[in-house]
Amino acid sequence: MQACDWQCHVCRRSNSAVYDACSACGFPAAARGEDILLKRAARADAAEPLAKLFSGLPLWRKLLAYSGTVVCAVGLIWLKMAWTMQSFGIAALMFVGGLLLAALAVGWETAPSPPP
Ligand SMILES: [Zn+2]
Repeated sequence: MQACDWQCHVCRRSNSAVYDACSACGFPAAARGEDILLKRAARADAAEPLAKLFSGLPLWRKLLAYSGTVVCAVGLIWLKMAWTMQSFGIAALMFVGGLLLAALAVGWETAPSPPP
């Protein structure tokens, strides 16, 4: 048992002194620094959806990334319905172009966001 209320090293949840492990994520109150860092890194990897990737970007870049994704999706659908060689080519171009646009918009900023 801890001497007083404590905050989880990993998820930052406040926990009552009667608990030795976090009530939210189960991480122990007393842990080695190495374990804490490993657990934090694992959590960060698990909670890294596309939305988080977009969240650090300026608005115009977000719009670029979203429109790129939309163009890419439309191209993919068109690709499935393409019946002539010409429409197939346009669809493939849209798919690749949209993918490239989204990748460029997101990929320019490769630096990880600072820790909270
Ligand atoms: Zn926790």
